[in-house]
Amino acid sequence: MLALGSDILHVKFLGGAGEVGRSAFLLDGSRKILLDYGIKIDGDTEYPLHPGRVDACIISHAHLDHSGFTPSLYAEAMPTAFATEPTMALAELLIEDSIKVHKRKHQNPHFHRNNLRTMLNRYVPCEYGKGHEFGEYNITMYDAGHICGSAITCVEKMDNGRRLVYTGDFKMENQLLEQGARAVKSDILIMESTYAVREHPDRESMLKRFVDDIREVIDNRGIALVPVFAVGRAQEMLALMNKYGLIEHTFFDGMAKAATEIVDRYPGYVKNVGLLQGAIKKAMWVETQRNRKHALEGGGIILTTSGMLNGGPVLDYITRLNKNSKIFLTGYQAENTNGRRLMEGKPLDIDGKEFRVRTPFTAYDFSAHAGKADLHRFIKDSSPETVICVHGSEESSTALAEELKMEGFDAIAPKVGDVATVEF
Ligand SMILES: [Zn+2]
Ligand SMILES: [Zn+2]
Repeated sequence: MLALGSDILHVKFLGGAGEVGRSAFLLDGSRKILLDYGIKIDGDTEYPLHPGRVDACIISHAHLDHSGFTPSLYAEAMPTAFATEPTMALAELLIEDSIKVHKRKHQNPHFHRNNLRTMLNRYVPCEYGKGHEFGEYNITMYDAGHICGSAITCVEKMDNGRRLVYTGDFKMENQLLEQGARAVKSDILIMESTYAVREHPDRESMLKRFVDDIREVIDNRGIALVPVFAVGRAQEMLALMNKYGLIEHTFFDGMAKAATEIVDRYPGYVKNVGLLQGAIKKAMWVETQRNRKHALEGGGIILTTSGMLNGGPVLDYITRLNKNSKIFLTGYQAENTNGRRLMEGKPLDIDGKEFRVRTPFTAYDFSAHAGKADLHRFIKDSSPETVICVHGSEESSTALAEELKMEGFDAIAPKVGDVATVEF
């Protein structure tokens, strides 16, 4: 039986359910609200299902698996987009780059640059904790602690106070530049479950090993090559090098530079902003071939994109490292990427040619996602009736939903194309 004042709400899973990538969840109520509209970019691009009419699109954060297909919504309609300012600025950078990458691969991005412009010109800039009325709903974003500008979104139905919370990607533990997220009270919780079956290693001791490992390489005149994602990891790594006295040895190259300049424009969204600003001043920004040659002389650290070795200057560097060098993977390496090939001991694919890496490599887990215990902590503090587990492998999301059911929650792990019915 429906609680007083409640209606039935259909939640449609257009992508990002039982998988990581192309996040897209439609709240099919009196207003059609789309939570993220991303693409999946391992290998050939995969797109979310078509949402039909959309009145609003909430962009949780800039990563392309959440923002990458939002411009396509503006080809025929004018939905209202909600995002924080850094999210929109960083999304613009990443979406522009993805248009270029599609063109280079002779693939169609399925939207036009004009659609992106339209979205940028008519979005509602959100600040953490400040609500926006939209029809019978109130939409409020909270800090998700994942990357600069990332948000947990609460959609509240104003007549009955029911709250649907969408976490996007989040992290509760502090990072150097990100304040960890706090749980947001909910009745219905749509939650990422990337690490539902795994705990991250202890950050402090891992940091120490990482820094010692880097020092050893540069003391031996090798190059410590650190591939980074442009948004998030690049800035964290800069701050880290600054904090541990390594920034004077750090070269900074690739799209990570443009992303860092954007983050620097939003100091209110950065914890320890001085650490980042100092790093920006002290690192050596690679602007010319001469700078790049200097970086390759050895005895230094090179932070560069792309994080999964699928393009960018990192592929040039990787073929030119000296024998004392080492590669430091600092993030998730998706299937069908060069990063994954490296981890599996397979040759890389560089412009269609095979390249076998002789340089040793090591992987560190600097994940910006909540680990298993924090996912459970979030749920406990959020105290929902219903938990919908998304943004995780089928194994991961299902395991979480099963555990939650044992604890008495109404929990599901939907698949793409499913529709859930909730009381809202
Ligand atoms: Zn993300
Ligand atoms: Zn994501």
